[in-house]
Amino acid sequence: MAMTGMLTESFELGPIRPPSEAYSLLIRVTRNCSWNRCKFCPIYKGEKFQLRSVEAIKQDIRTARIIQDKIKELAWKSGYDGSLEEVAAMVCNNPPNDAYRNVALWLYAGGKNAFLQDANTLIMKTGELVEVIKYLKETFPSISRITSYARSKTAAKKSVEELIELREAGLSRLHIGLESGYDPVLQFMDKGVTAADHIAGGRNVVAAGISLSEYVILGMGGKKMWREHAIATARVLSEINPDFIRARTLTIHSRMPLHNDVASGNFVRETDEEIIEEEKLLIENLECHSSFISDHIINLLQEVEGKLPEDKEKMLAVISRFQALSPEERANFKMGRRLGIYGRLDDLNDARRHEEVKRAMDRLGQDGNGADDKVIFSLMERFI
Ligand code: SF4
Repeated sequence: MAMTGMLTESFELGPIRPPSEAYSLLIRVTRNCSWNRCKFCPIYKGEKFQLRSVEAIKQDIRTARIIQDKIKELAWKSGYDGSLEEVAAMVCNNPPNDAYRNVALWLYAGGKNAFLQDANTLIMKTGELVEVIKYLKETFPSISRITSYARSKTAAKKSVEELIELREAGLSRLHIGLESGYDPVLQFMDKGVTAADHIAGGRNVVAAGISLSEYVILGMGGKKMWREHAIATARVLSEINPDFIRARTLTIHSRMPLHNDVASGNFVRETDEEIIEEEKLLIENLECHSSFISDHIINLLQEVEGKLPEDKEKMLAVISRFQALSPEERANFKMGRRLGIYGRLDDLNDARRHEEVKRAMDRLGQDGNGADDKVIFSLMERFI
């Protein structure tokens, strides 16, 4: 492709986006996290929070537009019969920089969604955020969905009227890290919010008509508070009634402050079996009309998904099926999941994969009667 030498423009990108925004155009409106103290979160540690000026953000949007136009021009000139998808895929496979990769991936997926980074976009002044969202939509008329991360506390401080203004400008969905609805857990993890803040913030978003995705972390209560964590989290989620509840499983590595609590014995991790029991208790206590989603490889039972309340029994049946396995089969499944060999419980019936896991367990010195938790934990770290 002769033109690739001319593809030099770039714009700023933050480090993360939710899995559901993998194909979204990423626009960084703030840098890092305005709280940055949660013990279980390594993402922005050591980085300073910064607001960005509206003009700087608009400049990035303009650059994204130039990149889009260049990729379109490339598609037209390279005689791919106008196949933007093919050219976007080629740019994506060999991008001149991350900004090009992002725009190419977004075009490849149809160019409909955008995600505003980083951790707490609502902290911007409402008027400025409205201006950014409107500019983004004007610059890219193809965008029909704009989403972002927010903190409950910040959402609680915005009035419903302000949130409605944001929705009317084009903000479609907010992703909020609820993590737990149990105050002692929130306090221990230094989350900087209470269950009451979660409810107030979540309800404001729902009342404004913005789609809401709340993230919960299974295992967050540790061996000491798992039961209270499950029940209180279900209560808070039921009071909010978000559109989506997304489950994640606690994973700990050395870049997290929580690692020190584990080392000192201040926090004792649950085993996979205990976490599944906690998930069961959480689901049993949910009284809402949300979609429960397990869209992360870190969750042991990714097939525990469905619409509440009608799919509650179906989800609990998946959990019961896992719990009814023999200890050997449970160990095999846990190891297969953590090695990335299994996707769901049915995969246990695949003789080839079952044997592959068995051999891996032999190599790792497992006895087949119980995968060592330390090995499981270290395998899990590879996924984050
Ligand atoms: S508020 Fe979110 S991004 Fe910030 S430290 Fe906590 S978990 Fe991490």
